[in-house]
Amino acid sequence: MMKLSGRAEPNGLHDRIHPNVWRVCGAEEGPADLPLACLVTDEEVITPTHHLYLTRSPGIEAPGPAIQLPAELAHLVAGDIIGITSDGRRVTVLWKSTATHNSLLLTEQCDNYCLMCSQPPKTREDAWLFERAKRIVSLLPPSAHSMGLTGGEPTLHADALIDLLEHCRDTTPWIQLHLLSNGRRFADVGFACRYARVGNTDIMAGIPIYAPEPSLHDFIVQARGAFDETIRGILNLASLGQRVEIRIVVQRHTVPVLADLAVFIARNLPFIDQVALMGLEMTGLARPNFTEVWIDPADYQAQLVQATQTLASAHIVTKIYNHQLCVLDRRLWPIAVRSISDWKNDYLDFCHECSVRDACGGVFTTSGNRLSQHLRPILGSHRPASAV
Ligand code: SF4
Repeated sequence: MMKLSGRAEPNGLHDRIHPNVWRVCGAEEGPADLPLACLVTDEEVITPTHHLYLTRSPGIEAPGPAIQLPAELAHLVAGDIIGITSDGRRVTVLWKSTATHNSLLLTEQCDNYCLMCSQPPKTREDAWLFERAKRIVSLLPPSAHSMGLTGGEPTLHADALIDLLEHCRDTTPWIQLHLLSNGRRFADVGFACRYARVGNTDIMAGIPIYAPEPSLHDFIVQARGAFDETIRGILNLASLGQRVEIRIVVQRHTVPVLADLAVFIARNLPFIDQVALMGLEMTGLARPNFTEVWIDPADYQAQLVQATQTLASAHIVTKIYNHQLCVLDRRLWPIAVRSISDWKNDYLDFCHECSVRDACGGVFTTSGNRLSQHLRPILGSHRPASAV
């Protein structure tokens, strides 16, 4: 697993570091009017034009105030965005330019309390996360192409979210945005209209539905009335021309209703842009609720195929996230996505002999050993069966 933070060693700092968000740059990129931290390598002669330098070892001389990076952050390259504490002793990676997935955490607060939440809600004040997100957006390199906006529940902070979306529209209009939300706030027509009026050209809201009726959905998200609000929110977004993805986490409670949920979506929400069927990440609340939520993916393949066939027959784009190919019915391989973020995916020892390793997204390192008991390398032919 790629480390995203570590203890650093300041060198020659005379003042506290400000601001706290910086983009890593090479020597050729001028300091301009941006907080750019120049990465010093031993192959280049650096002129003292930057406000801050980053080095990878004590033997490398910097021409100005510098921070020596910890060994675990040796992967930093120009284009990455980092947070630095004001004393220069801690560096955190906020944007990895080489990663396929980057998300900005906007809040840890949430009005749901899902049994399998990988990021358990906290009540503490965290408005600074939106401010940090704006600073990150201002520093994004032109190569950045997509960005997740996640929580917690970002819509709890309506004004800050709208402000951030406007900032994205004005600063990085080319970037695809994917907002993860429980959808409940969009039941408020006024808020849904504000969101639509921002006019981000490429934004989609990813909203979970866990059951085809209120009682089970409300139980899974531990919030009475959530199902009705979420459905009203999706309908409001759709009526305003906004793109919506429905996310279904496949777990012990959702497997028995998966087929009915697919029928519910096909009949009542056929206009949505896509459905994502998601494997469990066994971290956060999923750990203490293990017996409540865990089911081995090998044990629900029939239900997954049936749900996917129903959605396909309604011409709804369907994708499967977070599943290893060796436990997935081969008819589902064509819609399986390598979805686990680069920094938290890994492969098992036997994966190196697997013939589909390059197409497989591997496992969550955050799940520890809470994995399917049916993971096996696929040897020889790996032709998928016909897609559903
Ligand atoms: S053995 Fe490893 S690489 Fe192969 S399909 Fe399973 S998890 Fe993926």
